[in-house]
Amino acid sequence: MSIHWNFKDLIIGEIKKNGGWVNAHAHIDRAFTISPDSLDIYKKYMLEEKWDIVDAVKHASEDEYYRRISKALELMIDQGVTAVGSFIDVDPIVEDRAIKAALKAKESYQDQIEVVLIGQTLKGVIEPAARKWFDIGAEMVDIIGGLPKRDERDYGKGEEHFNILLSTAKKLGKMVHVHVDQFNLHSDKETEMLADKTIEYGMQGKVVAIHSVSLAAHPKAYRKKVYKKLQQAKVMIIGCPTAWIDAPRHEESQPFHNALTPVDELVKHGITVAIGSDNIADYMLPFTDGDMWSELKLMAIGNRFMDLDELVKIATVNGRKVLGIA
Ligand SMILES: [Zn+2]
Repeated sequence: MSIHWNFKDLIIGEIKKNGGWVNAHAHIDRAFTISPDSLDIYKKYMLEEKWDIVDAVKHASEDEYYRRISKALELMIDQGVTAVGSFIDVDPIVEDRAIKAALKAKESYQDQIEVVLIGQTLKGVIEPAARKWFDIGAEMVDIIGGLPKRDERDYGKGEEHFNILLSTAKKLGKMVHVHVDQFNLHSDKETEMLADKTIEYGMQGKVVAIHSVSLAAHPKAYRKKVYKKLQQAKVMIIGCPTAWIDAPRHEESQPFHNALTPVDELVKHGITVAIGSDNIADYMLPFTDGDMWSELKLMAIGNRFMDLDELVKIATVNGRKVLGIA
């Protein structure tokens, strides 16, 4: 009788042996907020516009936030996810309702899943009211989170955003997770800036880049330069495969690649890579359902990356490293 290999069973079996799945990046406070009625928002607007349009689901009560977050955590637990790192909006719209609900859920589910909370700065950290809520959130979260593109677009102050994140994290003794290089364009150089800033602030080993998709849009010589900087700065990376595979068609000429974090090259250069589901069924990613196997499969196929041992590490122990719970 011949043996038919099933890579899904093989890899998931190894993931169980290594402590279970780790979903290192999500936004569980906005999970399940899309409906057929609001699907047009996804079709009509690009991400930068949605940073404000999504306000529509952020006026929710603390109880509603608790329900969304609980449902997302149960979805994770059902798949054998044992730890999750989630950004939670803390800003002038939501104020502290989402983070309070998340802290409650973290405690309620502590026997089933380890929850690490990270502050999301959809409104930036420059505008005074946004800064006020960033500072309040920084005390409540486990990890300082950021989105430099917001302040770069509004004020040309992306670099200042990095400075505020890193100085706050250093002062509070916390790690930093930053959304960088999301747009799959060679004009993006945020991963490089994050590595430079990490060294400038002496935060080696405590900083994590989320996405770094645009790295793959640069020529090989630039990519190699950045990989070296990431090594020196001990910056780790979280790839969220479905999140950017919908990068819109454009007419820029750039090296051919799929719109994914270049995991094959990062791993080859000794950089720690983890995986996240990113948004689940919301305005940003309506069809994403938080299925970790789908995410890992897309990461592997889209990067022609079939190193089984490394894929298991990406789905398990590396996730714990980037969340500071190794
Ligand atoms: Zn995100």
